[in-house]
Amino acid sequence: MHFVSTRALQGPRSSLAAALNAGLAPDGGLYVPEWLPMLETQGAPVALSAVAAWALTPFMSGSELARQVERLCADAFDFPLPLLPIPSTAASVLELFHGPTAAFKDFGARFLAGALSALRQPSDPPTTVLVATSGDTGGAVAGAFHGLPGFRVVILYPDGLVSARQAHQLAAWGDNIRCYRVAGRFDDCQRLVKGAFADGALRAQLRLASANSISLGRLLPQMSYYAWSALTHYRQSGAPANYIIPTGNLGNALACLLARSIGLPIGEVVLAANANRVLSDFYGGGGYQPHPSLATLANAMDVGDPSNFERMRWLFPPEGLGPALSAGSVDDQQIRDAIRRVHHRHDYVLCPHTACAWVMLERLRAAGDQRHWILAATAHPAKFETVVEPLIGQTLAVPPALATLLDRPAHVEALADDPGALRELLLAG
Ligand SMILES: *Cc1c(COP(=O)(O)O)cnc(C)c1O
Repeated sequence: MHFVSTRALQGPRSSLAAALNAGLAPDGGLYVPEWLPMLETQGAPVALSAVAAWALTPFMSGSELARQVERLCADAFDFPLPLLPIPSTAASVLELFHGPTAAFKDFGARFLAGALSALRQPSDPPTTVLVATSGDTGGAVAGAFHGLPGFRVVILYPDGLVSARQAHQLAAWGDNIRCYRVAGRFDDCQRLVKGAFADGALRAQLRLASANSISLGRLLPQMSYYAWSALTHYRQSGAPANYIIPTGNLGNALACLLARSIGLPIGEVVLAANANRVLSDFYGGGGYQPHPSLATLANAMDVGDPSNFERMRWLFPPEGLGPALSAGSVDDQQIRDAIRRVHHRHDYVLCPHTACAWVMLERLRAAGDQRHWILAATAHPAKFETVVEPLIGQTLAVPPALATLLDRPAHVEALADDPGALRELLLAG
């Protein structure tokens, strides 16, 4: 299997290892698989890590990772993945937040770290993993690479725009992890990171790797939980699974569409965005109009120009999607109301991101839809306690891994929204 850039009509083709190490294609495009395999789901495995290896194997063929895919999946996906029916709703919640940093990004980040580490030769110079985060990515990437020989992680996050617990979680690792708060928004952090990757002089002096959701090494493994839950649902009900997915940079939803396109029993996919309307406008027929991101309660989805959009349009042109994909936008008041209502009616606590998915479910029901839906629950609500606790009137227990991190001292430095300042700190070592 080879990978090509979304911007190159004809080649060059890259190996998986080259695509994983490079992050972004040399022409600035995103790597996509040259072709999509088709899996035979009869006889598919049952356990999560076995399903993951089975779904990823065709994408690894010809790569030095092929022989290691089972071990990589077993190491990366070693935490629970509940698929929890919510009684009397014909809906289930796929809880993606039981990894070390309590957000779904642990799946992709842990696999990526394992893969990059497996590809590393002992003689290779140290690798700097440079990552912009709107809150959860940085923590997941830090957790995945923490203590891994040959790697250091540099995290940039928008100052004041992540929750207090998220900020602490980004800055509490130490060792090979460094954390910077940038005076700007997430899109500014992302632009700084893209600028560093495009800086040939810098890259001649420093081995840079990407861990943002543009990285294939995060995107591909995220198919695992869709593959597992769709197979599980199909075995139980005989029907394909429909998903509602909280969406920002489109990495999570794209993984679901990829899983569908390689043969997993997946039906409709609904994207649930916050007040950043770029995708709901686009899939509503309004054209693609990127905008500066708006700050919302679902801050990990505060994205005005989703980084995977180019890949999405390349792999799944909107003309071909029809009703199989739709998108909606949910405002902060609707997020608050949903958290309160779902706690009251169903005794279940949503994080603000997952609340967007719930609002989309309610809109489907109001329009007469009675099908079963699986909601991707992307973060543990205790990560957003300042939003959630006042709404439900009670304190949330912090998951143990997160609690350990919150007990450690945090260390963060300020960084100007300036490519020169970033270059300087990267070269300072
Ligand atoms: C990152 C994140 C999202 C958005 O995922 P994308 O892959 O960027 O669309 C949603 N919810 C939470 C909690 C996140 O951390």
